[in-house]
Amino acid sequence: MSELLLQTRNLTKQYGRHRAVDDVNMHIKKGAIYGFIGRNGAGKTTCLKMISGLSTPSYGEIEMFGYKGKDLQKVRSRVGCLIEAPGLYGNMSAYDNLNIKCKLTGIKKKGYIEELLKTVGLDTVGEKKTKHYSLGMKQRLGIALALVGEPDLLILDEPINGLDPQGIVEVRETIQKLAKERGMTICISSHILEELSKLATDYGIIHNGCLVQELTREELMR
Ligand code: ATP
Repeated sequence: MSELLLQTRNLTKQYGRHRAVDDVNMHIKKGAIYGFIGRNGAGKTTCLKMISGLSTPSYGEIEMFGYKGKDLQKVRSRVGCLIEAPGLYGNMSAYDNLNIKCKLTGIKKKGYIEELLKTVGLDTVGEKKTKHYSLGMKQRLGIALALVGEPDLLILDEPINGLDPQGIVEVRETIQKLAKERGMTICISSHILEELSKLATDYGIIHNGCLVQELTREELMR
């Protein structure tokens, strides 16, 4: 069996009397593109927020890169995430948005931002303000922001949601490129299985907060 990069054990999030995530045991292999599928309200975002450290589990455990509990802090910087809409400065260009993130992260490498823009196919947008971007362009810039610091695990929550067919193709190609060229492990959520069937190597199906099944692409095809 391939090496696991991330594993959750009985991961649970309770909001009042409602269990948004209920006893989830998720397994993401190193190098996988893990498609996390579930209807709206199934618990995908809540689960991904806990994995990214944006929300605290009510119960259960997350293990990443062999670390868990308090030690998870040591590996948080190895995770990049785009959850819900990317937080962009609308009056600034893609370059300036990335520049701010790089400064906050302490990255000063020459040509780094240009390279990120190229990776997500935004290298020709110039000074255009991001408030004038299409949804697909915004999503791709969100992915670029999540890539600052070279994460080993990239978490993308519904990056394809609301995009037009052209936007879907662009985001899909960006993700494929990252997996292939950088060997990145990627967890991507969607409420449409069909959208991820061209992309994911493994799948986790969540329904009413419960992870009902995990399967490989081959198992899904069968
Ligand atoms: P969507 O794609 O619509 O965002 P999802 O699968 O990501 O769906 P979540 O956003 O994780 O679903 O929501 C799961 C459940 O938890 C929903 O019933 C939602 O109303 C509830 N929920 C999410 N966040 C909170 C919160 N902060 N307080 C209370 N309930 C919440």
